[in-house]
Amino acid sequence: MRYLSTRGDAGRPGFCDILLGGLAPDGGLYLPETYPQIDAQTLDGWRTLPYHELAYEVLRRLIDDIPSDDLRALCARTWRPEVYCHVREGARAQDITPVTWLERGKLALLELSNGPTLAFKDMAMQFLGHVFEYELARRGQTLNILGATSGDTGSAAEYALRGKRGVRVFMLSPHGKMSAFQRAQMYSLTDENIFNIAITGLFDQAQDVVKAVSADASFKARHRIGAVNSINWARIAAQVVYYFKGYLAATENSRQQVAFCVPSGNFGNVCAGHIARQMGLPVARLIVATNENDVLDEFFRTGRYRPRAPEDTFVTSSPSMDISKASNFERFVFDLVGRDALALKRLWGNGQGFDLAGTPEFTRVAQDFAFASGASSHALRLKTIRRICEQYNVLIDPHTADAMHVALQQRDTLPPDVPLLVLETAQPVKFADTLREALGDAPPPPEDMRDLETRPQKVAVLAPDAEVVKEYIAQRDVE
Ligand SMILES: *Cc1c(COP(=O)(O)O)cnc(C)c1O
Repeated sequence: MRYLSTRGDAGRPGFCDILLGGLAPDGGLYLPETYPQIDAQTLDGWRTLPYHELAYEVLRRLIDDIPSDDLRALCARTWRPEVYCHVREGARAQDITPVTWLERGKLALLELSNGPTLAFKDMAMQFLGHVFEYELARRGQTLNILGATSGDTGSAAEYALRGKRGVRVFMLSPHGKMSAFQRAQMYSLTDENIFNIAITGLFDQAQDVVKAVSADASFKARHRIGAVNSINWARIAAQVVYYFKGYLAATENSRQQVAFCVPSGNFGNVCAGHIARQMGLPVARLIVATNENDVLDEFFRTGRYRPRAPEDTFVTSSPSMDISKASNFERFVFDLVGRDALALKRLWGNGQGFDLAGTPEFTRVAQDFAFASGASSHALRLKTIRRICEQYNVLIDPHTADAMHVALQQRDTLPPDVPLLVLETAQPVKFADTLREALGDAPPPPEDMRDLETRPQKVAVLAPDAEVVKEYIAQRDVE
């Protein structure tokens, strides 16, 4: 499998060539040259596979520059019940990404948040950790990962890369701006290759520092600076797997269809759903759910894509969806315009937005690509958390609640025999304040995390200054 850039000018690299980078050199995002096709018979043959075997079957069609025995071993090392079944009990303790029916055959949660940091980003990030280590060893190289986080991404990356040979992680976070639980999750890691840096400023300032450091080409080359952000193709590829898993768990034969409703921010999660569908997975509908930051909902309803300025981005109670522009959206638009890089560039311009209202392309969004969308808000989020708790005795987190709200609103527009799977992206305990606001009470953390907030923490507090951060990294880069 070769890859191409949405901007059409980055050659034909293989999976491992693009693994350690972010954007393509032409500024585009990588996609497979063609989508491998999975027919109904093949799909039915996968029904009894354990998760890591299913992952291998999906991924070997997207990755052909890792020998198959090695890829199989990487999948087995990544998707283990000990890693992904954190908060499960009984018979389901072995089931990775279980489907939990709220109404049998009709409405379910696809649980993606039972991994080490209790959020769905673990699903792909753990794989990235193992493949990074593998590929760096093969190349005899080392890498320093630099990133900024306001929560879930940073901790998922640190838990995936802790103790991995050849990789160091420098993760910037806004000093005093994360929840106590989130802080404890990251700062209590004492692994030698993990460096937490609390920036005395806001998240945007931390991100600006990362951009400034990465823009220094000679520093970046000298210290082999890499990233693990949500545009990384390996993350998207790994996420494709659970759409197959969810489909197989919710159906009995591969003539059936399902629909997915996905809480969305950077369009990474639902982009993987789009790719699964392009690979032939029988998906009747992909519903994009946003919070008050409804850039994506606006596009899918109207055809207008209007990225916002950071200062026009709302701070909400589903913070991992607080985005002003959706980094992965370009991947879908590329497919929408018939994989024509020139058409993509004409439309995309310099990222200021575009308007497809009334065009044949916009008609294809729903007709050919099966997309729909909806938005939620703080009040609707609280109401949905309460409703799901009262009606089904199940607790959901604020992000999942945004998707559940949209799912309940739209379920009647689906054919009655199509089950609707809502992707569960975080454990409610991570957002205890909002749960308390909704229900008057919050769930306790899992047994092995009860003492998290009292563990010793390792963090350096630095000024929001690129030079200071560069100095800090240079002193800790052993080569
Ligand atoms: C990152 C995240 C999202 C948004 O996912 P995207 O891939 O950015 O669309 C939703 N919910 C939670 C809990 C997250 O951490």
